[in-house]
Amino acid sequence: MPEGDSVHRAAQRLQVLVGRHVEVETPHPRAAVKGIAERLDGRRLEQVDAVGKNLLLRFEGGLILRSHLRMSGRWRVEARGRARVGKPWLVLRSAEHEAVLWNGAVLELLRDDPKLRLGPDILAEEPDFDGMLARLRAEPQEREAGDALLDQRLVAGIGNLWKAEALWEACVSPWRPLGQLGDGELWAVLEAAHTLMRKSVAGPRPPRHVYRRAGRACPRCGGIVRSASQGRHARTAYWCPGCQVGGEAAAS
Ligand SMILES: [Zn+2]
Repeated sequence: MPEGDSVHRAAQRLQVLVGRHVEVETPHPRAAVKGIAERLDGRRLEQVDAVGKNLLLRFEGGLILRSHLRMSGRWRVEARGRARVGKPWLVLRSAEHEAVLWNGAVLELLRDDPKLRLGPDILAEEPDFDGMLARLRAEPQEREAGDALLDQRLVAGIGNLWKAEALWEACVSPWRPLGQLGDGELWAVLEAAHTLMRKSVAGPRPPRHVYRRAGRACPRCGGIVRSASQGRHARTAYWCPGCQVGGEAAAS
């Protein structure tokens, strides 16, 4: 699943089109019906930003194209005119490059800044940890940490992978209710998520310690990593019961 860091990588790759007048096509029928190509074709692309898991493409004239990749979407930036099989959702073309969106998921044209109701962005250069903490504390405190960290209204950009890895880094069990965690512990989890995800944007993804490693040994304490479904959306939590202690009753 694309997480905030994938969206930031896509935003970086798309910078080659910024400042250019772009040709816009929507080959996929589900995208074509939105009338996006007709309204954007030939306009100058002014800015591309990643906001949480959203990519916002700002065009001249105040038009903003919002793309959310959900589970399957992918952006590719390649040389213009490269042969391809299938119908992408969107193609943005400059004289030299093409940005291609596959399996679009969410694509909408907005007139103003979207009211995304997102929490502070974990990938910001100087993340607003205080703001994140305040939002986490405003939630019902029996909510489990692993579930709350995926709520984009509280913290924007964290997905299931970096949630699991950040909790492991900070030795916090995903099953502990927020009310049982000190501010320092929550801060450590958020800081770990920020550090790991910034590293992932800058270079190769840092190694995983628990994510999709159920049944294998924890590299820190040798405990056996477990997995279980968590939260309303039944996302899989991965954790080491040896060094991420507390709240396990909820996992069984
Ligand atoms: Zn461990």
